[in-house]
Amino acid sequence: MDLWKKTLDALQSRVKPYDFQHWILPIECDHIDDQNNEIVLKVPDDTHGRWVEENFVRDIRQTLRSFTESDYRVRFTYYGGYDDDRAATADKPARPKPEPAGAPPELIGRYRFEAFVDGPTNQFAMTAARAVAEYPGTRYNPLFIFGGVGLGKTHLLHAIGHAVVERYPEKRVFYVTSETYVNDLISAIRNDKMSAFRKRYRDDCDVLLIDDIQFIAGKDRSQEEFFHIFNTLHSSHKQIVMTSDQLPASIPDLEDRVKSRLQWGLIADVKPPGFETRVAILKRKAEADGIDLPDDVAMLIARHVTQNVRELEGALMRLDASARLMGRPMDIDLVSQALGDLIGTSLRRVQPEAVVKAICAEFKVSATDLKGPRRHRNITVPRQIAMYLVRELCDESLPQIGALFGGRDHSTVINALKRVEAMRDADPSMRTRIEGVRRQLRAT
Ligand code: ADP
Ligand code: MG
Repeated sequence: MDLWKKTLDALQSRVKPYDFQHWILPIECDHIDDQNNEIVLKVPDDTHGRWVEENFVRDIRQTLRSFTESDYRVRFTYYGGYDDDRAATADKPARPKPEPAGAPPELIGRYRFEAFVDGPTNQFAMTAARAVAEYPGTRYNPLFIFGGVGLGKTHLLHAIGHAVVERYPEKRVFYVTSETYVNDLISAIRNDKMSAFRKRYRDDCDVLLIDDIQFIAGKDRSQEEFFHIFNTLHSSHKQIVMTSDQLPASIPDLEDRVKSRLQWGLIADVKPPGFETRVAILKRKAEADGIDLPDDVAMLIARHVTQNVRELEGALMRLDASARLMGRPMDIDLVSQALGDLIGTSLRRVQPEAVVKAICAEFKVSATDLKGPRRHRNITVPRQIAMYLVRELCDESLPQIGALFGGRDHSTVINALKRVEAMRDADPSMRTRIEGVRRQLRAT
């Protein structure tokens, strides 16, 4: 049990304070089986267990490994009790869910292409990932996926792994985080097992998936070894896919020869999804988890959690847990109670007229023009942005928005929303302006 206490202490500095408080602290250690390297953890319910499994098990295992130098399997049971039908299953492990044959155990079952919702900001990366999974080692080698936290990079990487295994059962897929890679290397050096290490990374693998490659920066030996692994795999037409939070050129302390190799193939980015995609992600997630999620609640969450899909899902999981704990329906009232800290004071709805006013001020156009028939670019761009922000911040349907802006039909509105997302991605200064107006509207 001391081991679990130590693990908790170490986890506290590894995960964000909110996550630690909300997801890690409620975990109790049921028992640790040193013989079989297994740890059984008790969690409040299966939502909690699943969330921990998908988001923190890797941290837990790596922390355990740092203390024990062995790999632990993590199992969950419920501590149950608040809910009868849950209590009945209290001692059954929530997992592991059976994996299709052949998928390497490191791959998370849920992270598949089918579960990935694409939109204008991640479509390119998803298409590239699918192409690589279809023809590994032939096109786009390496594929380098980069973007901010919680935007689906790891999800896509796992999805490639699953798809390759399904399509080519004979191909050996190897997924590692670069942290695991570095640890593997250190222990190989320490235990004089370099030839086994090289065999594993260079010979015994047809598709190498490395998550968060930026962590090898500044570590000479890791970069050196990676350089050789890369060359070996690449020259034998074996696929390499990496993710990172930055472009290769922007990763500090990365050797030039490594940098250049990361740029040999295709570089694809993921950016925060737009409003419609965020709503779609929430709905997909709710459906997968059997959560009954009303539209207005989905839109409310999507309106407020804008930069990180993990947080978007986290909000849904929290809401679901609160609904079940309090035995209440998932509605707007519950959102303000359960997610008050997330969505803050801005829960109050923004009025469409406030959006019109703010856009007119920002772009120096009149409300009459904004709602009128003129089609000059000086008017259409602000009009499209106004539609976009009304969609995002107010509870208006597409036809209502069309009506508000001079009786346009809803396909015009959809088109406007798409144009703005594209504009936002292509033009950083436009993006800053849009975000400025949004922030200002939220604050009022
Ligand atoms: P990253 O590696 O970029 O930090 P992850 O791949 O870990 O992000 O994604 C965080 C969470 O958000 C995961 O649960 C993942 O399934 C989910 N997610 C991210 N993007 C999407 C998407 N486009 N569709 C569905 N789920 C997504
Ligand atoms: Mg990741």
